Amino acid sequence: MQMPAEGRPWDEVRADMLARGAGDVAWRDGKTAVYVFNAGEDVHALQHEAYGLFMAENGLGPLAFPSLAQMEKDVISMALGLLHGPEGSTGAITSGGTDSITMAIKTARDYARAKGMAKDRHNIVIPRSGHLAFHKAALLMDIEIRSVPLKTDGSYEADPAAMAAAIDGATIMMVGSAPNFPHGIIDPIAELGKIAEEKDVWLHVDACVGGYFAPFARMNGVPVPDFDFAIPAVKSISADLHKYGYCAKGASTVLFRSVDLYKHMPFSLSEWSGAPMKTPTLAGTRPGGAISAAWAVMNVLGISGYREKQGLVCQTRERIEAGVNALGFEVLGKPLLGLVAFRHPQADTLALYSAMRQRGWFTSFTVEPPSLHLMLSPKHAEVADDYLADLAASLEAVKAGDTAPKVEARYS
Ligand SMILES: *Cc1c(COP(=O)(O)O)cnc(C)c1O
Repeated sequence: MQMPAEGRPWDEVRADMLARGAGDVAWRDGKTAVYVFNAGEDVHALQHEAYGLFMAENGLGPLAFPSLAQMEKDVISMALGLLHGPEGSTGAITSGGTDSITMAIKTARDYARAKGMAKDRHNIVIPRSGHLAFHKAALLMDIEIRSVPLKTDGSYEADPAAMAAAIDGATIMMVGSAPNFPHGIIDPIAELGKIAEEKDVWLHVDACVGGYFAPFARMNGVPVPDFDFAIPAVKSISADLHKYGYCAKGASTVLFRSVDLYKHMPFSLSEWSGAPMKTPTLAGTRPGGAISAAWAVMNVLGISGYREKQGLVCQTRERIEAGVNALGFEVLGKPLLGLVAFRHPQADTLALYSAMRQRGWFTSFTVEPPSLHLMLSPKHAEVADDYLADLAASLEAVKAGDTAPKVEARYS
């Protein structure tokens, strides 16, 4: 497209945009189980309106916009309240999980250096199931990633002993997930905490996808093990508002046990031509709307609203587990939250994935081991039966050797 010499009327442009969206996956109908967290029309409308109220404002300027600065503080204090943040714990809103993880690593590195670690090449010890955002951040900062195989007992949990063996004097961080993305399983964070204490290593918990889910699941009676600041060795946590926090995209939180740790995160500079500036996260400009929408959603839903939604997601996951088990699938490990992965002993995963894509379902898949993967939303309560019916039909087709043209077996 070339920029039009004369602009077109908004009505026309808008219609053009809606027409473009028509080719996208039908996420509003609950046909995606990746990328979109669909908590219903009312939450969507709320995000939209609350985002709009502070859309032009900039979180870069807390003195100009004390409104946003206070909303950020409030969101962080709500987060710390849910995740057992002790007195003095703190954090910041970032643009997303990748930003939160990058900043946690930067903070851990600068903390280690301040404590006297040599500036030789550092490393991070992470389970094989840890998110690729750690690998990306490590690449940016020229840090080595030590990716440690999981336990081999079918639990899909991080292996604390193997992780302990990978730690050395240049390790700036060890990582556990709550839960990991590929299998939806919570790592044994308490055991990782013991190792972190023994070895005096920073333990980061990646609760990007579980941080705003697990606390409410626990309130609903799900036996969620300790995974947050309740474990004394946990120094930082990443938790995404724009996932199971049901907030508008562009919002995550990175949290620290103390100000003493946090103080290694912000960047400030006075030796340049411009005014001295200080930024807490990777971003310069920070969209006010992402902050105001998060504040609004948390205040409108409240604990009871989140409990209800996460309860619905857990129920749906249980229905899906029962349904896929009845079709002969094996669920990987024992998921407790909103993610589940499952595989069939007699059917090729990618063939199944293609067959489901042809039926309009856009989900993710896991590679180790090959399995179908769902990240469920409240909306899926309405479509779980349709999903299972289509899965049964796809399984029949694949078992019968259906060689229909496959969709590309990738999702990004
Ligand atoms: C989504 C996710 C991330 C990355 O978050 P983005 O917001 O996509 O950058 C990191 N870790 C886990 C476990 C995730 O699910």
